Amino acid sequence: MNPNEAPFLVFGAPLIGEEEILEVEQCLRSGWLGTGPRVARFEQDFAAYKGVAAPHVAAVNSCTAALHVSMVAAGLDPGAEVITTPLTFCATVNAIIHAGLTPVLADVDPNTQCISPAAIEAAITPRTQAILPVHFAGRPCDMASIMDIAVKHKLLVIEDCAHAVESKYRGQPVGTFGDFGCFSFYATKNVVTGEGGMILGRSEAHIARAKVLALHGMSKDAWHRFGDQGYKHYQVVECGFKYNMMDMQAAIGIHQLARVEQNWLRRRDIWQRYQDEFAPAPLHLPTEPTDDTRHGFHLYTVGVETQRTGIERDAFLDQMNRRKIGTGVHYLSVAEHPYYQHRFGWQPEHWPNAMRLGRETVSLPLSALLSDSDVTRVIAAVSDILANAAAE
Ligand SMILES: *Cc1c(COP(=O)(O)O)cnc(C)c1O
Repeated sequence: MNPNEAPFLVFGAPLIGEEEILEVEQCLRSGWLGTGPRVARFEQDFAAYKGVAAPHVAAVNSCTAALHVSMVAAGLDPGAEVITTPLTFCATVNAIIHAGLTPVLADVDPNTQCISPAAIEAAITPRTQAILPVHFAGRPCDMASIMDIAVKHKLLVIEDCAHAVESKYRGQPVGTFGDFGCFSFYATKNVVTGEGGMILGRSEAHIARAKVLALHGMSKDAWHRFGDQGYKHYQVVECGFKYNMMDMQAAIGIHQLARVEQNWLRRRDIWQRYQDEFAPAPLHLPTEPTDDTRHGFHLYTVGVETQRTGIERDAFLDQMNRRKIGTGVHYLSVAEHPYYQHRFGWQPEHWPNAMRLGRETVSLPLSALLSDSDVTRVIAAVSDILANAAAE
């Protein structure tokens, strides 16, 4: 195809099958759009995929909600410190703040881009009560070291698994190491429901409380009040939130989850093809996954270092856009944002690895929707931009 006629490649556009479309239609025709039987089925399917019993999971309307509700359900002391990574989406930090807790950053390992266990240890104070690691790009964090630290200092662990629905560490699914694992089904994630999330909890009591908190603090949800068993009264037992997932969302999720492994294989192939094609390029490429982990292949990120490539990162993004290829930045260090700088006095220089990575990183398209020729287009565009930059 003439590249001038090629459509814009939307970054993170998901692969949606006919099954999802049909299920949403059936859901609409059923008259039950809110939280009901399809959410229950999605929870069961998700629990089965993770190898846990259904009472250990709770569907919610985002990963942000999952993180927030997990920390509230855990009952940490007001203002307690939660150690997390600066190389994450702002929602990770915002959820800590909304839970009435204090975020504390620990820098990432420059190779894995995941939070460094040594940096966690160094950030612990008498006020620390939890660690919130993010399995960055789908690469599992060093969970053996993180859990050792947690046990030693009696800290709660909340895993941000937004990138990592398929990821495993030493054969065990991520999200099952800590007290909570929080998953995202946002439109660009590995499994999508449009907006959506899931909480996985080691303790059934924590999940039961999270479910109540996620629906106004009510003792019974709507399906149990308006279902075919007759009206049931509810009691408000906590001041909760409005975080429930709809059946409309679960209708998509059920079929997305059924194809999770198939899509993972496709993204793995694309990831590996990028790795092979870019091996000679003057880019910082992601470290290969280790043998004892299963990478989720959510993001393929390259580092554009101006000294090596002759082009600035933002100019590179602009050049990709001109070639009709959508890219992402995951992430500018959270310490780059003015709100946190004002509130906590954070400066990016305090976490130099995250600062450098965030200023150089570019995420290339990595969706199961991409055809081989789409991937070829991405590779050609990157090569062309780098060749032009080197020639200047
Ligand atoms: C997407 C994302 C979130 C938030 O997920 P939502 O479902 O959009 O609320 C949290 N953390 C990370 C690392 C993410 O990528």
